[in-house]
Amino acid sequence: MAAKRKKNDDATIDAIDLITLLTPPGAAGCYECEISRAAPGEEFDLIKIAAELPDIPEPIQRKPETIRPKEPSGAGNRQSLPSQSQPDLGNKNIQKSDKDLESLLSGMRKPSRPNRIEPLPDIAEDSLERIASEIAQCQKCALHKTRNKTVPGAGPQNSRLVFIGEAPGADEDASGIPFVGRAGQHLDKIITAAGFKREELFICNILKCRPPENRDPALSEMICCTPYLQRQLRLLKPSLIACLGNVAVKFVIGPDTPGITRIHGEWFNSIFEIPTMAMYHPSFLLRDAKRDKGSPNWQMWQDIQTLKKRYDALLQ
Ligand code: SF4
Repeated sequence: MAAKRKKNDDATIDAIDLITLLTPPGAAGCYECEISRAAPGEEFDLIKIAAELPDIPEPIQRKPETIRPKEPSGAGNRQSLPSQSQPDLGNKNIQKSDKDLESLLSGMRKPSRPNRIEPLPDIAEDSLERIASEIAQCQKCALHKTRNKTVPGAGPQNSRLVFIGEAPGADEDASGIPFVGRAGQHLDKIITAAGFKREELFICNILKCRPPENRDPALSEMICCTPYLQRQLRLLKPSLIACLGNVAVKFVIGPDTPGITRIHGEWFNSIFEIPTMAMYHPSFLLRDAKRDKGSPNWQMWQDIQTLKKRYDALLQ
């Protein structure tokens, strides 16, 4: 009798654990009481419980946009982002097997993350100049101790397209102007060849101060600095963002975004809720001088043309 009670207790705990994993947000606790009211000795069928759960709400995560424009002919090496959709736990025709249940659970165990950044409070008479002046005084993170100049970003307030990199380098730290070093000059060549004029674009970084030795920005530094970028974007109201390099992409699009070599040229909804293309960082392109088909520079050329097409469509 005692052994049977223990078995039932274990089954109850298993069922509650399972339901905790599978319960939609806001419905927590709804099923535990149903289990506790079950008749003594009744066996719990975990598969049945999973299959009878209500529909899970639309998953909250960034996905490639469905409005992605057609790539120019010749761009044949893009890889589509693998589907990130959650398993349909509300499907009553679900095949009831342990394998299916395991796959359902593995899908639900993926860490959730916000798909947008919290809006900032309004700032009366905010302006790009005011933001730049606040950045110049900023001591919110330790990078203020090692910087020479802050690098807020550059470009006109009516820019429809914003390029975002991760952080200033040595040349930018010395001049206070974004993307002026070798990488910046390479980016200039690419955007000019594609038909953009640098003076019509806003170009900036997530961090406004240079990390020592050009190390990758720390997440805490990016979180600290992001309100400045957020305010800039709020004023600029760009229609498109080009996000340069893995670090910026993982921050602006999402931490579990596949690597840049897989998703460059793809469109996403970013945390700023602005259509964003993932692109190579020009410093990465400098490491490989090749221009032949399939090389990173060749891929960048395809991507910038895709971006230009969409940009031109905005202006029509
Ligand atoms: S990196 Fe950003 S948050 Fe840190 S000191 Fe510079 S401006 Fe301030």
